[in-house]
Amino acid sequence: MIYESLNDAIQSVFGENAEVETKAPVAGGDINSAYALKLSNGETIFMKANRRSNFGFFRAELEGLSAIRKTETVRVPQVLALGTEGETSFLLMEYIEPGRGGKASSEELGVGLARMHKADASEFVENGKFGFLHDNYIGAGVQINTPKESWAEFFTECRLVPQFQKAEGYFDSGTRKKMEKLLGKISRYLPEPVKPSLLHGDLWSGNYMVDREGNPWLIDPAAYVGNAEADLAMTELFGGFDRAFYEAYRTEAGIDPSYKERRDLYNLYHLLNHLNLFGSGYYMSVKSILDRYC
Ligand code: ADP
Repeated sequence: MIYESLNDAIQSVFGENAEVETKAPVAGGDINSAYALKLSNGETIFMKANRRSNFGFFRAELEGLSAIRKTETVRVPQVLALGTEGETSFLLMEYIEPGRGGKASSEELGVGLARMHKADASEFVENGKFGFLHDNYIGAGVQINTPKESWAEFFTECRLVPQFQKAEGYFDSGTRKKMEKLLGKISRYLPEPVKPSLLHGDLWSGNYMVDREGNPWLIDPAAYVGNAEADLAMTELFGGFDRAFYEAYRTEAGIDPSYKERRDLYNLYHLLNHLNLFGSGYYMSVKSILDRYC
């Protein structure tokens, strides 16, 4: 159900007398405006808002959060409603009251993520093993999720190629040739996983929260079905995940000893996306990965 006003959404979820009492901005997002809404019934909920034309972000976020939630493995906020009002669109969800994490939070996240990766992912992709129900977004960039039978084909066709095509203007001719060479031989670096996994898809530390009780939560996914190693790789791209997290993950799901050989190839996707979204500051990181593989 897509509501046509914030009031409609709130009254439908919380009852006819519920209304917004205060609206406090929440900092930290890249793309949307975010608010904690205090309601007249004493509840606090979280709202993201954007232009009406960006409603697709919220539909995609709902689909990703719902998929993760279905696996019953790692906490994600429950979506309460989505809608539009005038020129804005909004997404309402459960509010996570921020707290401080410790070793126990990291371990719980490691185990939860490992279990999510081990969960049956087949209901989240149709007519293929890798992909997702619909295309979604990685940051503000479109993420293509056309189903494919092979992981190497999916990662090449739906991840690297579209980003490379968008970024071509940044490349000098030598680096462009290296990128083309890499695309030609990449399948030999990307083994098929034993089992496809549901991935968070945008697993940097800004999308990991800890609540007042120390419980770990994941927010803001770019979910799809892929090789679990791609999620692990992203945790290493910008840092912020500690040893307890990796040890707990390894104990629960194992990490292939040769994963490190592929890690930067998975992250090449995110670096190309950053190059496309944020500009040439990311070019040297892209180039240094290409120099290593070609
Ligand atoms: P964006 O889509 O703009 O990247 P995020 O999903 O990252 O926005 O959310 C912005 C910030 O809001 C996060 O950094 C986090 O601090 C906070 N946040 C996100 N989801 C919740 C939530 N359900 N409850 C409380 N705070 C949240």
